[in-house]
Amino acid sequence: MSEDEADNHELALVSRYDLGRDELEELLSDEPSYRVNQVFDGFYRRLAEPGELTELPRALRDQLEVAPGLAPAFHCVAESVADRGSTVKWLLGTSDGKRIETVLMRYRDRTTVCVSSQAGCAMGCSFCATGDAGFGRQLSSGEIIEQVVVAARRCRSERWGQLGNVVLMGMGEPLANFDAVWPAVVRMNRDLELAARHLTISTVGVVPGIRQLAGKTLQVNLAVSLHAANDLLRDQLVPLNRRYPLGMVMEACEEYRASTGRRISFEWACIEDVNDRPADAFELAALARPLGAHVNLIPLNPTAGGLSRGLRGSARARVLSLQAWLRQAGVNATIRENRGRSISAACGQLAARA
Ligand code: SAH
Ligand code: SF4
Repeated sequence: MSEDEADNHELALVSRYDLGRDELEELLSDEPSYRVNQVFDGFYRRLAEPGELTELPRALRDQLEVAPGLAPAFHCVAESVADRGSTVKWLLGTSDGKRIETVLMRYRDRTTVCVSSQAGCAMGCSFCATGDAGFGRQLSSGEIIEQVVVAARRCRSERWGQLGNVVLMGMGEPLANFDAVWPAVVRMNRDLELAARHLTISTVGVVPGIRQLAGKTLQVNLAVSLHAANDLLRDQLVPLNRRYPLGMVMEACEEYRASTGRRISFEWACIEDVNDRPADAFELAALARPLGAHVNLIPLNPTAGGLSRGLRGSARARVLSLQAWLRQAGVNATIRENRGRSISAACGQLAARA
């Protein structure tokens, strides 16, 4: 077990994907090593359930099926499909009664799964449905990985090919659960064989977490949810800004870029007359340009909490203008499609409504 994984070891076993190869070896210590390999390959390469491992002797298969912690961590509470079948959202229930959401999106030949890192979120951003719902609990590494496996199995059954990308942009703040998230990312890369450039961590600006990421050798993509380019506005939209104001976030981003050489992206939920005016674009450009950051513009998805605070999404024309202003100011900006709106599967709408 690596140092990164050791951090998370004391967490209870809640998913079979909390077991890496070493732990499987421990669990199956009576079995020859080729059997352990078969089980490992079954779980991680073939994404199989214990009962599907027909190459194993019956007795071992039965043992695996009843072993504590090897049953699926989640049951599917609801599945919704949108965008003519190319967006699938799962509302998943844990055995301790929590609800999380996982969203699989297919765009042309690319598939991306958006996974949750926590049940709920403690950050309380004013425009986010997950934030409105409050914090439930941390997810374990295995629970994070298991969501990816659920999606990868679906890609296979739909004949969409291998799962392409994983973004930690579902429920929760990944860097507030670093001890589970990082080992999960390491094992997605090593055990599920997903390339690091296809893995993205999105953070609202947990500065110590960004610094920790900067020191890692495995270099994943970093997205920082900015939404405001001055502290006055950001304090209102993102309460964590009062603890880690923009200056600190930018310093951490600079450190991340300097030590990894990777481009950061800034997420910007476009809110009508709040952060979508020319002045907002120029302020944002002043932060993004020196960092070489890419900006993703996301029209705000309506949430009850956001609406009660008078926050509405920018009109399409305004989002296009924002993009043009940013480009004029030398910043690369793209508009992110609002996938899954009709099934509340879009960013910030993940609130685990049953
Ligand atoms: N906690 C992390 C990751 C989960 S939120 C973060 O905040 O980055 C994933 C993304 O959805 C973030 O960029 C977040 O700002 C965005 N988001 C949240 N609520 C939204 C909404 N109502 N409309 C559009 N994007 C939203
Ligand atoms: Fe949490 Fe991200 Fe939502 Fe903020 S935007 S409340 S950090 S999930």
